[in-house]
Amino acid sequence: MDVINKFQKIGKNLDRKRFVDATGGNLSYRDHGHIFITASGSNLGNLEKKDILMIPLDKEALQLKQRGGGGRSPSSELPLHYNIYKKTKAKAIIHCHPIYPILISNHTNENTLKCNTESSKIIIGEQIKIIERIQPGTKKLAKKTSKQLKKEKGLILKNHGVVSKGQNFDQAMNTIEAINQVSKNTYLSLILNS
Ligand SMILES: [Zn+2]
Repeated sequence: MDVINKFQKIGKNLDRKRFVDATGGNLSYRDHGHIFITASGSNLGNLEKKDILMIPLDKEALQLKQRGGGGRSPSSELPLHYNIYKKTKAKAIIHCHPIYPILISNHTNENTLKCNTESSKIIIGEQIKIIERIQPGTKKLAKKTSKQLKKEKGLILKNHGVVSKGQNFDQAMNTIEAINQVSKNTYLSLILNS
């Protein structure tokens, strides 16, 4: 499967599960010193070849305003993806905005969420890290999140969404699904116990 197909498959999957909204969320993939990343304004559920830009993974990459066809700009979260690739051995990154992790992170003052499903305990461990609210697209968010992802497979960004990494998109997707399920269970428990 070529890179474009990988993006289209995972983008459709995220859309089907309602983990993205309109043009929210972004994907990237590392391959031989380059990053493939979705363009700003792409709809992940309906990605085309022109929506996926190739950027060299070097110091200059963050300065680039556009690459690939049609003068498109990479996702505004390029610094986030870039920093994670620099600090980890990840090959694939997913960032999306599922509603339950956002609701739960807004509700709690804790900086972790306890894993409450068997699969989440296997995939993530005892708890999911919640990063404090930081403005999307900033270097601060990129720095803080990438540092944490040296230890974690995925985490929740408070009042924003989730980020995960893996050796392929399927691994990263499993982590997103696990985080979403833990968040959904926690949310429903709160409702039932209120
Ligand atoms: Zn976002």
